[in-house]
Amino acid sequence: MTAKKKLANAKPAPACPVKGCKAKTPHTADPVVKSLVDQFNRADKLLYWVLSSLTEIRNSIIDDVEHRRHFAWITRLRQVEELYYRALYLLFVAPGGAVPHVISCDPPNSFTQIYDEVNQKLLQNGGAFTSQSLHGAGFGTPMEWLHGSGHADYKTMRIVSFLQAAGSDRVRNIVQFEEVFRHIDAHIRRTGQMREMFATGRKKKDVRKKIIQLHQQ
Ligand SMILES: [Zn+2]
Repeated sequence: MTAKKKLANAKPAPACPVKGCKAKTPHTADPVVKSLVDQFNRADKLLYWVLSSLTEIRNSIIDDVEHRRHFAWITRLRQVEELYYRALYLLFVAPGGAVPHVISCDPPNSFTQIYDEVNQKLLQNGGAFTSQSLHGAGFGTPMEWLHGSGHADYKTMRIVSFLQAAGSDRVRNIVQFEEVFRHIDAHIRRTGQMREMFATGRKKKDVRKKIIQLHQQ
């Protein structure tokens, strides 16, 4: 084949290195994605945003629980996991060039995959959500109820009806809120520690080591 023909047959360079992505132009061509990619290049900025958001959701969940707004708190549990795991993925697991793709939210961008990769490649399964306290209420596996609640599916509706029908004391027997809040608080505490380390100039490999350690405690 002549050099001219080779050039004519050459495939265009992909706009994104992530397998399965159908982007025709680089994700950073979108000014919003570009701005977030630039901003989150600073790990402490990304973590500040995650920390503020986790704290807002936590406080809002506490208020909902106190006022028996079961639908409201259940449907936001997944957001807590998404914020924390996607940040760990961006910082420590995402392969080179994949960050703009994750930030773009274009498919494929499955939370299940990100959650599994972070647990296997970074946390050595020390971060897997293992709350047993909700299983008795028919939530299924942790990932099943994270998905179901995030989409407000009918199983979630059924559980909300079940909790609404139970008296306040019974709800606290069915759902161990202390365990749920301990889980959220641990995410907040670890996010704050990572942010502090980055903000004071610690190297990424040191922060990585620390977060693995914190998940093993
Ligand atoms: Zn992509």
